[in-house]
Amino acid sequence: MKNFDVIIVGGGIMGAFHAYHAAKLGKSVLILEKDNFPVSSTVRNFGQAVPSGSSGKWFDYGRRSLEIYQDIQSKFDISVRRNGTVYIASDETEWMLANELFGIHQNKNYNCVLLSKRQCLEQYPELKAEYVKGGIYYPNEVSVEPNLLIYKILDYLQEQFKVAYRANTSVIDCQEIGGKTEVITASKEKFSAEKIIICSGYVFNLLFPEIYAKSGLIVSKLQMMQTVPMKNVTLKGNILTGLSIRRYESFEECPSYKNSTTPEHYSELKKWGIHILFKQAIDGSIIIGDSHEYAPVGKTDELGFDTKDYVNKLMLKEAERIVHFPVNQIARTWAGFYAQHPDEIFEYNISPNIHIFTGIGGKGMTTSAGYAEANIQRLFL
Ligand SMILES: Cc1cc2nc3c(=O)[nH]c(=O)nc-3n(C[C@H](O)[C@H](O)[C@H](O)COP(=O)(O)OP(=O)(O)OC[C@H]3O[C@@H](n4cnc5c(N)ncnc54)[C@H](O)[C@@H]3O)c2cc1C
Repeated sequence: MKNFDVIIVGGGIMGAFHAYHAAKLGKSVLILEKDNFPVSSTVRNFGQAVPSGSSGKWFDYGRRSLEIYQDIQSKFDISVRRNGTVYIASDETEWMLANELFGIHQNKNYNCVLLSKRQCLEQYPELKAEYVKGGIYYPNEVSVEPNLLIYKILDYLQEQFKVAYRANTSVIDCQEIGGKTEVITASKEKFSAEKIIICSGYVFNLLFPEIYAKSGLIVSKLQMMQTVPMKNVTLKGNILTGLSIRRYESFEECPSYKNSTTPEHYSELKKWGIHILFKQAIDGSIIIGDSHEYAPVGKTDELGFDTKDYVNKLMLKEAERIVHFPVNQIARTWAGFYAQHPDEIFEYNISPNIHIFTGIGGKGMTTSAGYAEANIQRLFL
């Protein structure tokens, strides 16, 4: 039986960054991924790394993640681009919240700039003047390419740190006996390690289903769209809009948040958990999303595999209110899923050396690098 210092179950962003930080400590690491290549949350997202949207310790993990992303990018191309983030306010309430968040982030020495309507339109000519009230801009935030990043990081881990990576390998059992842990795969292979770290995303039926059933985890289904490549459109960085201001945790810290009212126009959009974000990919296509529907562990299949045309149309109608480019030139649509938890993460020790970390929710591309670093330090130092 082959032995490692650490075995990671799951090759998504959480698994990959736990592997990265363990390998940096000189640990021998094996990543086991059930699919041919990762196809879950980590490849179905916008690729926006936006600490500005998080609060509390997640804001700090996000800031640290930006440093980690850029450090790796300086050595190996993992698709990180530092083009900043903007939140576009469309009415008085959203503009007030943007101003208040500016004050909060200034106090935390987090680089941000308030943009007037004119500055927003100059910096982002694709925005419609009628929509824009003003914006808050974060120059140091980054975008990544969700269809590239994880594959590049897995390559980097193997090339640079000699991390062992096995695809098509479902782990069906983990146990700890006498201080030594081992995993058993679906093909009955066994690997042993000092520690096992399980980052299995929203897969709840292969390992410890009884623990997930009582965990409080839920799954969110999101609808996403991507336009054809738009060579004449430039939309740099992460673009978030009025409904994002009304949704993201960081804005909940603003004094006006509690008493802010929702305009009638937003009510159908809010019913489907819609807020409108844009992210232009390297080929010029633009990812547009998203919506949110929810189901608890055990009922996640009820979310369905299809995307609802009605919901896509609602999103495109709102997108049309915001930008000039032809949002209806859609090349593909998909459903993405992620696990989330009321405590903002699900951390569970099966035994002293078998740990589950999942349910990071909609902030995994932003915060996993920093969060995993803190976990690995706690577990090994
Ligand atoms: C539509 C959408 C948009 C999003 N946009 C953003 C964004 O812009 N910014 C942001 O910060 N976050 C975003 N997120 C959230 C982010 O994508 C997730 O938080 C993150 O990808 C979760 O990573 P993970 O590694 O926990 O899970 P996953 O990516 O699901 O990875 C888990 C992996 O474990 C494997 N696995 C599971 N069980 C086993 C087993 N028993 N044996 C072996 N392998 C196993 C799975 O096959 C999978 O590859 C978005 C998510 C979605 C769905």
